[in-house]
Amino acid sequence: MAPLTEESLYEELTTLIRQLYHKGEADEIVETFQATLAANPTADARYGILTHWVDFYRLRKYRRDRQRRRPTYRERTTPCVACGYPVSHRHHVYDLATHGEHTQTVQLCANCHELQHLLYNALINESDYSQKLVNHMMYSGRVAPATFDQLLLWCRQTIAYEASKGWVSADKAGDEWVELRLHWSEFRRQSGAKS
Ligand SMILES: [Zn+2]
Ligand SMILES: [Zn+2]
Repeated sequence: MAPLTEESLYEELTTLIRQLYHKGEADEIVETFQATLAANPTADARYGILTHWVDFYRLRKYRRDRQRRRPTYRERTTPCVACGYPVSHRHHVYDLATHGEHTQTVQLCANCHELQHLLYNALINESDYSQKLVNHMMYSGRVAPATFDQLLLWCRQTIAYEASKGWVSADKAGDEWVELRLHWSEFRRQSGAKS
């Protein structure tokens, strides 16, 4: 195996931090490490710092992953709370990295679960790709408007929670932003007119 270089350790460190923390928090931690490393002029000192913290975050990630227990039969056979499909997954409304298993979860089928994460990405990451997919689903006629309403509500709860932690801007859970990104009132008007 190739010896670990400063670059490869730094790479692993930042990857672990991004897996363990939400974006805003991860950026802060990475910046702190950048400053610490810049303040240590010798390669040995930087190497020591990197190996120590890579071990630390590896252990933390291992513990976190172990906390993710397998869902029970009862959970899997709980109908999707958004559309009623008979098999579901757990979706964490609040961030798992911060809350472990003691977190707010909802049971969603694979389709609603995907839609939930697409909605989140469309609002938070300003992803055009997610926005287009959400729009495609909104006007496919295959997802009930009430299902969309419920999923959007949870999505906004997630964002409001993350905003309360200072990770994201609170505007992103607001009516104006939802309107701007998803043209929600137009969708509600059209879906209301059809039913
Ligand atoms: Zn569903
Ligand atoms: Zn999820």
